[in-house]
Amino acid sequence: MIKSLEGIGMTSRRTRLRLIKRLSEQGITNNKVLDVILETPRHIFMDEALASRAYEDTALPIGYSQTISQPYIVAKMTELLLEKTPTLHKVLEVGTGCGYQTAILAQLVDHVYTVERILPLQQKAKDHLWALKLKNVSYLHSDGGWGWPDHALYDGILVTAAPPEIPEMLLHQLAVGGVLLIPVGRAGNQILQRVIRTESGYDVEQLEPVSFVPFLSGKE
Ligand code: SAH
Repeated sequence: MIKSLEGIGMTSRRTRLRLIKRLSEQGITNNKVLDVILETPRHIFMDEALASRAYEDTALPIGYSQTISQPYIVAKMTELLLEKTPTLHKVLEVGTGCGYQTAILAQLVDHVYTVERILPLQQKAKDHLWALKLKNVSYLHSDGGWGWPDHALYDGILVTAAPPEIPEMLLHQLAVGGVLLIPVGRAGNQILQRVIRTESGYDVEQLEPVSFVPFLSGKE
């Protein structure tokens, strides 16, 4: 069945408006980010059986033991990324998953380079972004612990799975002034970190407790 982009009932724009209201109440203030979330149909990123739950503020399964991130965390990470560098040309995303965060980023920056280690998920993400006519995205099937050196340096790097510590290759691929957002830690004990590359090194901020799927090495 072809999923409707418009959506009806629980997948309609009106339902997304309620989500936007909740996100503002939770402290998301960047109107560009809120607008993009309002206009992006999250229900097309998930299986038909779960589509009616697409605008609940929760992570949901997408197969292969992975999840689509909770809208709040997508909004928060995007807002934090844009806060220090309002015009982002090149952004690297590690952990494409079903492509929801990719779609949000693609509407706010010039080009998104996204890396995923599970091939069928990458294919799904491509289909979803194609349906939304988002073409400023390049995809790589790889272990994102290596980043994507061919297109470095990046103005922003956003990681959507949690490693026990920050992979060094990602730090090297960040431009001076660039921002890396990454959940760090093991299950039940993860902190969202923001790293900004300076002329002389890296400034690290510990932001808030989060809950992401683990960052795994290799590819499948
Ligand atoms: N960005 C997605 C979140 C997907 S969940 C969204 O918007 O919903 C995190 C994803 O990271 C999973 O698809 C998982 O396979 C992927 N992942 C985990 N470790 C990885 C690694 N080392 N390299 C690339 N992708 C990885």
